[in-house]
Amino acid sequence: MTTRTTGLVWLRRDLRIADNPALHAAVTECDAVIVLYIDSERDYWPDGGASRWWLHHSLTALDATLTKLGTSLTIQCGDPGVVINAYVETYGVSCVYWNHVYEPRQLSADDRLARALRDNEIRVVRSNGALLNEPDEIKTKTDTIYRVFTPYWRRAIDNIGNAAPLPAPSSIAGLADAPESLTIDALALLPTIDWDSGLAQTWTPGERGAQDRLDTFLRAAVFEYDSGRDLPGTEGVSRLSPHLHFGEISARSVWHQVQALQDDSDGTRIYLTELGWREFSHYILCHFPDTADAPMYPKYANFPWREDADALIKAWQQGRTGVPIVDAGMRQLWHTGWMHNRVRMIAASFLVKNIRAHWLHGARWFWDTLVDADLPANSMGWQWSAGSGADAAPYFRVFNPVRQGERFDKAGDYVRQWVPEVRDVPDKYLHAPWTLPEKFHDVTGFVPGKSYPLPIVDLATSRNEALAAFKTLKASES
Ligand code: FAD
Repeated sequence: MTTRTTGLVWLRRDLRIADNPALHAAVTECDAVIVLYIDSERDYWPDGGASRWWLHHSLTALDATLTKLGTSLTIQCGDPGVVINAYVETYGVSCVYWNHVYEPRQLSADDRLARALRDNEIRVVRSNGALLNEPDEIKTKTDTIYRVFTPYWRRAIDNIGNAAPLPAPSSIAGLADAPESLTIDALALLPTIDWDSGLAQTWTPGERGAQDRLDTFLRAAVFEYDSGRDLPGTEGVSRLSPHLHFGEISARSVWHQVQALQDDSDGTRIYLTELGWREFSHYILCHFPDTADAPMYPKYANFPWREDADALIKAWQQGRTGVPIVDAGMRQLWHTGWMHNRVRMIAASFLVKNIRAHWLHGARWFWDTLVDADLPANSMGWQWSAGSGADAAPYFRVFNPVRQGERFDKAGDYVRQWVPEVRDVPDKYLHAPWTLPEKFHDVTGFVPGKSYPLPIVDLATSRNEALAAFKTLKASES
């Protein structure tokens, strides 16, 4: 008589069935499979409100898919080691499968868990389901870690290989009696006050929603991505970031679907490079785990951040800085849980350079409000903006939000959508509405400081103060 084998797949940031190495291995090797999600406190930065909203809907979508395939999603909360051990014992699991999460604490905690399971003679299979390359695979010729993107990516791209994404299973055999499970509702992921209607109007979490987004993008926008990606008032980007963060689609699958277009335009090439930035951010956080909280280059720890900035930070969070492109981004973020990359850079520069608030204030706000809040990408984005991270913007690069608006939102579609107060300001003054001459106040109905705040900081003065602050850093270094 052959023994029936039961495998347990522990899902985390891989909430999909296609190209999921852990799930694929379990379905191939075992007679029955338990698919488990654990809501745990193990994350280094516990999920914020928008991420938890997404997670609720993503788990719901995944459970519906698994049910169609013959099983269901098992849900628990608590310490992953304790929960997994309990399932192993109760259901006679012989092998536990999971995909890596490349974040501080996770890999070392996973190592400990794997050791404990193996000591109990339980097989453990760990795979890479999130990245095109494992972070340890990419080193310089002298075996050091890259800190600059371009040489990193040149090396990484050669290592990707052509392995096709794994197929989705056509059925999954569960246990005869479904294992004990909480309901998704019991995780209480949804907000108790109603601020999430904009999220629901904007997004379809889940694997189907991810593939639909990609299909739409690959039909047209990808070919013009090289120019379209900078225009926040258009649909020039893929908006795949929350789907990629939660692993509803794999980077490998996106990579292959773009390659399958067999298009060598700058659009597709640069889009693939953006996936490279995603890889690089994971690579950096994996090799420099402190960079979620501390500057990558220690000299920046002495930067004279402004201490009395609470009211200014609040105005920034609420999209009331008086600078339309910054406010448009912050309101888009609050309403939809997402902000266009060009505007993320402008809004971040405004916070860390014009307001001179510590970048962690921004990182934490984004963390709570973004549906794509992702520790590697968020840490890298903020350190890039502050000038303290890998391959960061040089300190003297202080975005001028007026010039940025005029350049990338020329017709003002983006600003007018999110900051209706300035809708009737003529194009010429739209991005600096405080300069609207008095003779236009009556005709336009727009009165600077009344209809919409005056800028909370003077752009030229604050820029000079930021540059002076950076110079003190340089002086203290020598
Ligand atoms: P597309 O332009 O369509 O790019 C495709 C994919 O490439 C994205 O989905 C994303 O996975 C990846 N990507 C693109 N740009 C970057 C980048 N600079 N760094 C890392 N990956 C990138 N991205 C997040 O996913 N989560 C975050 O928490 C996050 N925080 C950021 C904070 C700041 C201050 C800045 C400046 C950037 C941040 N980014 C973050 C990076 C970038 O803004 C978003 O990935 C992008 O706007 C997502 O939109 P998209 O999917 O349409 O991107």
